[in-house]
Amino acid sequence: MASKLTNNELVLVKSLKNAEVLQDLDPHLLDQRDGIIIVACADGDYFFDLFSHHARTQIHRTDPRMHTFGWHGGALACAPCSPVNPVKRADDVFMRQIADARSLKDIHLVGLYAHMPCGAVRTCGIPMEKALALQVRAYARVKAVNHGIKVACFLHVDYGRRVGGGKNFHSYYFSPEKWERWAQQHNVQPIV
Ligand SMILES: [Zn+2]
Repeated sequence: MASKLTNNELVLVKSLKNAEVLQDLDPHLLDQRDGIIIVACADGDYFFDLFSHHARTQIHRTDPRMHTFGWHGGALACAPCSPVNPVKRADDVFMRQIADARSLKDIHLVGLYAHMPCGAVRTCGIPMEKALALQVRAYARVKAVNHGIKVACFLHVDYGRRVGGGKNFHSYYFSPEKWERWAQQHNVQPIV
């Protein structure tokens, strides 16, 4: 099980929020009329919150339509040769699943989720900022190999228990463009 966020990770999240890499999603800006293909980490400790929150963003529909893939690391596992996959080239299988979902369900929007803290990231020993660089690589790859597809990135953060009990979760829209600027300023080097 993933432990709590470290102080360094909390500082990272704050910095990303200040730079508007992480923002609250305005549901009006994401056209989900045909639904969305969701890629997320399988971790059951946070998944219900992610799923139910995302369902509420589908304001253009009367009923949610979320074609969902859950595997360890979520979006991070889709980066080329991702270190979060113990099986080499598992990313190719995940990419194929996304392409198949698109053609089977006629859904042309993919939501790529990562989350913090993530056990798959902890297990492979990479720092969170490098994991987020993987998310942006996955974003570029899904776009590059699926002509005309729309891709949006998200980060789910578990801030731990609230004082007095209850979970303290938040889902953010993650801007790959603003990330690039932030990563350059903070000298984040890709790992693969
Ligand atoms: Zn995870």
